[in-house]
Amino acid sequence: MKIIGEIPSYVVALETDFTSYCLKCKGKRGIRNEKYKVYREGQVLERSNCIDCGTILRNFRKAKYYNKSSADYGFLPIEIPDLDNLLGKKQAKIIRNSWKYHPLRSLNLGIHNLNIEPRVVAEMIISSRKRNPIRVKIK
Ligand SMILES: [Zn+2]
Repeated sequence: MKIIGEIPSYVVALETDFTSYCLKCKGKRGIRNEKYKVYREGQVLERSNCIDCGTILRNFRKAKYYNKSSADYGFLPIEIPDLDNLLGKKQAKIIRNSWKYHPLRSLNLGIHNLNIEPRVVAEMIISSRKRNPIRVKIK
């Protein structure tokens, strides 16, 4: 299935079957508590738990990123800089490890394509934000 939603820095459209190979269960299992972080152009890194045993699972999912702050024409596709090339693999790894995983907010399920018109991306995300406003916790 193809889905689209937002993490703090980007809107991301990705392809997932909501399953993963679990080493502990020695087989393909459903996943829960999916969270995502930017990895590189064309790929997002997913962290989830095995539905059966709770083991943490990591998977790359095919992804397309969009810019959240290009409101005039909608949310335009954005290319993730190639950190391996820019900084070398060692430094790139340190930086990626410092990035956090986030659940997908403003989720839209069952999109047909990862490449979506900027105007449509903006419409989907903005209308989904209205349906599911992010609640601010007041201490
Ligand atoms: Zn398992």
